[in-house]
Amino acid sequence: MKHIAIAGAGPAGAATALLLAQQGMQVTLLEQETAFDRVFRGEGLMPAGLDALYQMGLKETFAQIPSRQLDAWDFYVGGRRRMRVVEPDRRGLATQIIDQGALLIAMVEQAKTLSNFEFYPGWRVSELLRGDRGEVIGLRAARQGQSQDFLVDAVIACDGRYSRLRQLAGLQIDKSSAQFDVLWFKLPAPPSLAEETPFVACLQPQRQFAFYPSWDGRLQIGWIVEKKSKQALAKLKNRDWIEEFAQALPPDLAAHFRQHKDELEGPIYLDVQVGCCPQWSIPGLLLIGDAAHPMAPNRAQGINMALRDAIVVANHLAGVAESDGPIRTETLQAIQAERQPEIEAVQKMQLAEWRKVALISQPGLPYLTFKAIATAFGRFRFAQAIWLHEQKGLREGVLPVKLHLTKALSSLG
Ligand SMILES: Cc1cc2nc3c(=O)[nH]c(=O)nc-3n(C[C@H](O)[C@H](O)[C@H](O)COP(=O)(O)OP(=O)(O)OC[C@H]3O[C@@H](n4cnc5c(N)ncnc54)[C@H](O)[C@@H]3O)c2cc1C
Repeated sequence: MKHIAIAGAGPAGAATALLLAQQGMQVTLLEQETAFDRVFRGEGLMPAGLDALYQMGLKETFAQIPSRQLDAWDFYVGGRRRMRVVEPDRRGLATQIIDQGALLIAMVEQAKTLSNFEFYPGWRVSELLRGDRGEVIGLRAARQGQSQDFLVDAVIACDGRYSRLRQLAGLQIDKSSAQFDVLWFKLPAPPSLAEETPFVACLQPQRQFAFYPSWDGRLQIGWIVEKKSKQALAKLKNRDWIEEFAQALPPDLAAHFRQHKDELEGPIYLDVQVGCCPQWSIPGLLLIGDAAHPMAPNRAQGINMALRDAIVVANHLAGVAESDGPIRTETLQAIQAERQPEIEAVQKMQLAEWRKVALISQPGLPYLTFKAIATAFGRFRFAQAIWLHEQKGLREGVLPVKLHLTKALSSLG
């Protein structure tokens, strides 16, 4: 059986580790953090991501994880709701707001039940080990001054958008021009959102933000800003954020925001990176997830794409798990060939959506025209159906991704 080392236990790394260990491969998962709940992580899981989890046999596990199913997509323009699109629940697959940390813990705990899986929390991968021909034969990781080498048949780099392994492998990334950054805030949720879970997008001239009641019962608010320098960002901290939000909200919500002014947490700054590596692999090493293709945050594609990458990796590596000799470069290249078209298509859709938002939030004619259209047509079913139809690729994925493993996943429920 092949031995695979995976760097990074985010959604890409944890899911890949679980699937490969399930196939009987020797899996070593290294994660630089010691806890999963230290930093705020993405919380949105679109239907394609939920489908990926279900295919992995994690339906029952998912039911135990703190989450809220989205009820609707609301669009507020000029301080009033102009359109509500009810979240469809096709085949039991609706958008979810999840505790990502809890999901990662659950996946790693499942993998830990297998004797061929090892987890190294708190270990940072610092170097790649190379063979005579420059091929990757393992990695070096360190924890608290202690260093260890891991010799393996292949390394899978799942170390996120600033991937150290990508740099060590000498792989380039084609970065898309920076579109925007996001400032995340938390606030107690209003009582009206205790039972209901809408994703609310608010638009006013040069003011764009979104909020939703999160899995922890609090309101998660994301404010969109143009890419800024660190100094410019530091100044934003002093802004009267509650007033900024309140001015784009209907009176009842604005009153709630003002009433809880002192309880506002944040901002946490999300430096949005978008791009895709022209080449995801070198002999002995493969990049997946954000390491290969950092995603923009709109319509929560990061977790989705990472989980779908994991399925394709598992399909390809399961086929060579027991073969003699090293994992062939062609196998790694086939994974990229299967995943890249969807990644590119999704990134294109995200960019198109962002351009639309940037246009209609321009003061003057663009904003006023959009407001008039939203006011006139937003309440009609056909307008809601058009919006939903446009979202199909971002909701359901662009290409079919099906898990074809040789060993059953029955033990995972
Ligand atoms: C604030 C924020 C909000 C977001 N909101 C959303 C959202 O709502 N929905 C969504 O889908 N996406 C969202 N995203 C993006 C989403 O979290 C990522 O796209 C997704 O997690 C990518 O998964 P990944 O496994 O490829 O990488 P990551 O989740 O980034 O995981 C990488 C892991 O590698 C570890 N690591 C890094 N370097 C090393 C090293 N040298 N050695 C060992 N371990 C290492 C990191 O600690 C991390 O655990 C958000 C991201 C951020 C930062």
